[in-house]
Amino acid sequence: MDGLMQPRPLTIAHVLERAERLFAHKHVSTAGTERSTYADVAGNARRLATALADLGVPVGARVATFAANTRRHLELYLAVPATKRVLHSVNIRLSAEHLEYIVNHAEDDVVFVDRGLLPRIWPSVDRLPLVRHWVVLPDDSDTALPEDSRILDYDELVASADPFTGSFEDTFTLADENLASGLCYTSGTTGPPKGVLYSHRSTVLHTLGTLAAGLIGLTETDVVMPIVPMFHANAWGLPYGAMMAGAALVLPGRSSEPGHLLRLMAAERVTVAGAVPTVWTSLVPQLRDHDLRATRFLLGGGSAVPSALSETYRTTIGVPITHSWGMTEISPVGTIGGTRTQHHDAIPTEQVAVRAAQGQPLPLVNLRVVDVDTGGELARDGHSVGELQVAGPWVASGYFHVDSRGSFTDDGWLRTGDLATIDAEGYLRIVDRLKDLIKSGGEWISSVELEGAIASHPDVVEVAVIGRPDPRWAERPVAYVVLRDGSTTTADDLLRHLTPMVATWWLPDEVVFVPALPKTGTGKLSKAALRDSVTTGRR
Ligand code: ADP
Repeated sequence: MDGLMQPRPLTIAHVLERAERLFAHKHVSTAGTERSTYADVAGNARRLATALADLGVPVGARVATFAANTRRHLELYLAVPATKRVLHSVNIRLSAEHLEYIVNHAEDDVVFVDRGLLPRIWPSVDRLPLVRHWVVLPDDSDTALPEDSRILDYDELVASADPFTGSFEDTFTLADENLASGLCYTSGTTGPPKGVLYSHRSTVLHTLGTLAAGLIGLTETDVVMPIVPMFHANAWGLPYGAMMAGAALVLPGRSSEPGHLLRLMAAERVTVAGAVPTVWTSLVPQLRDHDLRATRFLLGGGSAVPSALSETYRTTIGVPITHSWGMTEISPVGTIGGTRTQHHDAIPTEQVAVRAAQGQPLPLVNLRVVDVDTGGELARDGHSVGELQVAGPWVASGYFHVDSRGSFTDDGWLRTGDLATIDAEGYLRIVDRLKDLIKSGGEWISSVELEGAIASHPDVVEVAVIGRPDPRWAERPVAYVVLRDGSTTTADDLLRHLTPMVATWWLPDEVVFVPALPKTGTGKLSKAALRDSVTTGRR
């Protein structure tokens, strides 16, 4: 017997209309230079809806954005899916080759591009034959615009369109909740990038999951700053989450300069912010120069947050960096770290160890670790290391228009490529990416654990450990380290620092000091690029 409840669809149209109805006066500010409200954002989204139809962009078409975190980008986040088109947020730091592949593979019909970013994509225009319109989003740049009839101005387009006055939500039926709403490509470390196609239903459930109290738990009193780019997995769901909760939004614009980010956090009294560890690391030297007393929650993920980094924040501003693990394929948030009641009486070092874990799965997310060779499920004992697999209503079931069989198990779980343990309380700890693990003499060394230990030295700013081919041991670890300015720390000092923390055979064969480490398009350390530069001698 079925329940007798209303079969209402879960849609992003609801997020838009809820913010408009309940939180019209709440602020959205961009880069510290522009202030608007959810009423303004929703009003522009309503005009944009008509403009998209006037441009002849079909329902279901992919609408690309090539843009920083700004109010206009937020309007696209709403108008595109609310009109049943698909928002394809393109990573602005891709190589031309990947960029062209992605835009062509997605068959983007129109591209909305920040004026200052146009020079990065326009040279590819002749190789992007399917794009019919290029809509330029004004920003603080005065980049010259090419003479080309395909180029339109966003503000003029929006101003000249009539607003859609009906209810977007009412245009959706239950069958529509599974319509695609967003498309994000994961960076292709092996092979071309792969598209993850979110649905309205998965996005709304993910939004609710991240709103769960005790996890990220956004509320109306929060001021939320997604530093993580809006082109990277929906900025971890923070923009939709903030709108659903009625929290104010602070969008940092294009600059990720530490002083700019910290000034914004202080001036806007930001309570919640999310960024990858390399960004949190970059803010450390100036942390004490800004009033961050409003901050209550900092989210870090995308790669492991070294415990020492989180502790620096806790001791300096009173708020640790809460760990989150996720993937583009998981919308992207899978787990949230932090302690639970049973840890409250634990000694401080144990609490630090719990906070270092990637944390517990969000409601509706299921995790398991399996034996890499046999595929058999391993014990949840905190020790058994295996490949992490994940299932849930906001986890991908396949990639867009490519054969995805190898990425999923026969029973439909996503194979993450991460090695992990799960303990008896359900806490996930990522040991390493399968491809980054170092195999020395038949035993495994976790590059992540070694990096965390090296990063606990006060003079270390950034570190990446990779394996070097070795005739005797197969592979041996080598650490690439960026020291803080003026440091006189030597390789021997670092090895002495490491000795009490790791097994002797884990100690790196060499410590190489470098001025900087290569980053991926999303700001994470790129071990692939580091390996390339080491093997080609270009560093
Ligand atoms: P990309 O492959 O472009 O980095 P994603 O952003 O989807 O794509 O990255 C997902 C991967 O990032 C995960 O599979 C995992 O290896 C890593 N990752 C994400 N969050 C964490 C974390 N908190 N700790 C360790 N690794 C993480």
